[in-house]
Amino acid sequence: MDIQANIIEFKKRLEGTSCKLVAVSKTKPAAYIREAYAANQLDFGENKVQELREKPAQLPDDIRWHMIGHLQSNKVKYIAPFIHLIHAVDSLKLLEEINKQAKKNERVIECLLQVHIAREEHKFGFDETELMQLPGSEHFSALQHIKIVGLMGMATFTDDRAQIRSEFRHLKDIFESIKKSVELPNLEMRELSMGMSDDYDIAIEEGSTMIRVGSKLFGPRLYIN
Ligand SMILES: *Cc1c(COP(=O)(O)O)cnc(C)c1O
Repeated sequence: MDIQANIIEFKKRLEGTSCKLVAVSKTKPAAYIREAYAANQLDFGENKVQELREKPAQLPDDIRWHMIGHLQSNKVKYIAPFIHLIHAVDSLKLLEEINKQAKKNERVIECLLQVHIAREEHKFGFDETELMQLPGSEHFSALQHIKIVGLMGMATFTDDRAQIRSEFRHLKDIFESIKKSVELPNLEMRELSMGMSDDYDIAIEEGSTMIRVGSKLFGPRLYIN
């Protein structure tokens, strides 16, 4: 794996689009991240709090760390001081905990709401009805230390490209409809996090602003994660 070359190639592909690359470094050592960093990659995604507690100390300070995985409320405190963006917020309870920890750290933490767009049952995320109700709730508008900056979704794990496209398109529609209809100080729809190694090209065509790419940059992972 020539990580630097892979980063450069992806950046070239994204030139002229409004889509950014989040390099998903989960399970990979700091040395791999350093290589990507040498090719000017600053955004890295991890899905385990444990790795987010270990890696940053070994790496440059200007890296922007993204939490892309399912986050448990009791672990928010470990990442609250430094996390750049939390991609997979899937409950009001979690949002309240992020708000609490952000307040303790005297900062505002930017978050994306995860939307369940896939056919699979097991994927996390709000369904559309829950999502539409959230911004209207009093609880939500009281949260001054979080800012919702967009949505995140994962398509069904399938070879059916038309199915994947329709799921991404659906997410983009939801994104646009919230953007149009909701105005709140702690909500600003500007990021749409969708697309991974196998479907990032479709995601870009469907309006993604952040693709989260791991194995295409760093090679296959040793365990499914
Ligand atoms: C692992 C992971 C990715 C990256 O997956 P690849 O297929 O290796 O690109 C993207 N998003 C999330 C939420 C992940 O957990």
